[in-house]
Amino acid sequence: MKDKLMKMLKEREEEMIEIRRYLHENPELSFKEEKTAKYIADFYEGKDVEIETNVGNGYGIVVTVKGGKSGKTIALRADFDALPIKEEADVPYKSKNEGVMHACGHDAHTAYLLVLADCLIQLKGEIAGIVKIIHQHAEEQPPGGAKSIVEAGFLDDVDAIFGIHVLPMAPAGTVGYHSGYSFNGRAYFKLQLQASGGHGSSPHKANDAIVAGAYFVTAAQTIVSRRVNPNNAGVVTIGSFDGKGTFNVIKDSIELEGDIRYSNEEAMDVIQKEIHRIVNGIEELFGVTCDLTYEPDYPPLYNDPELTAFVADTLKEIEDEDITEVKEFPKMAPSDDFAYYLEKVPGSYFYIGCTPKGVEEPYFNHHPKFDIDEDSILVAAKSVGHVLCSYLDKDEISS
Ligand code: MN
Repeated sequence: MKDKLMKMLKEREEEMIEIRRYLHENPELSFKEEKTAKYIADFYEGKDVEIETNVGNGYGIVVTVKGGKSGKTIALRADFDALPIKEEADVPYKSKNEGVMHACGHDAHTAYLLVLADCLIQLKGEIAGIVKIIHQHAEEQPPGGAKSIVEAGFLDDVDAIFGIHVLPMAPAGTVGYHSGYSFNGRAYFKLQLQASGGHGSSPHKANDAIVAGAYFVTAAQTIVSRRVNPNNAGVVTIGSFDGKGTFNVIKDSIELEGDIRYSNEEAMDVIQKEIHRIVNGIEELFGVTCDLTYEPDYPPLYNDPELTAFVADTLKEIEDEDITEVKEFPKMAPSDDFAYYLEKVPGSYFYIGCTPKGVEEPYFNHHPKFDIDEDSILVAAKSVGHVLCSYLDKDEISS
């Protein structure tokens, strides 16, 4: 089956590129991907497969391909939302939706998965197991789409999940992997601090919100330096301190907002606990009232070591002219809601090199000039196809 699948994918490379270009020209923002979702659903029209639309908290789509033989259930996910970025790349398939751009390659993710899914539907009699294709909405905008798809039960019967992300840190043909914690987790917080205002000349008759807030800022910077295990990583950024007032008036209230990142669950727990502790301490120390909103969104993404080794070994062993190198990639600083799937079932999220040809210093994901080498789309399809076939074969149960 694997050889047949690879041949089919290769023959349909042009179609993958066409799909990617169509999506690239017609990007839609997270939770607003109505037309993209319709385009995906229409692709499956008339095909012999189960499709569920509007899944989770948005336009998610789950397609279930039931193989002719029994076996494990595997899930594959591709996201399909775009970003609020005005495209600056000079390409023939430039965004037609002003101010919205596929600047993270989710167009390529969707293009490869649609064609791979269609090939699997055609080959389903030979598949030992079930393949769930998750076309996920809203990866870029917390709370994201992944968590709601997990909560809706779509992963309850899934044994393993795989997904890819295109990254321009290597040329097309390169597949990257990283075991264990691979993307950072993230939280948002807002602190509203209420004190009492007064005349600048009479601090004893007031309670200064600015001074209390400044102590919070300073104390919060000790969390990473003094509380987080140095083998873990964390970031506490206070990006907004709204304390504008009048020079001779003691400010009665301030509002702070911040962004928190962490490399793993241990750091996540420490930072969350310490932010709360410092806020309680500021209340006590200055006699002010604090209202803290603390919202963890995407958790740290944990690639199952066994399945990541399986992906790496599988792709290193195969001989495929389109997959030229398989190597370890570093840990990524951003966040991705694929992490929610990996909290539910083991799996691996791996990387597809996509540096545009002839470019030495490529623009990275989320840059207004981001672009990919479209050869990477076939590499994505083949890599995931190889992993899928090997995974289902290894556990094949004859029926
Ligand atoms: Mn992305």
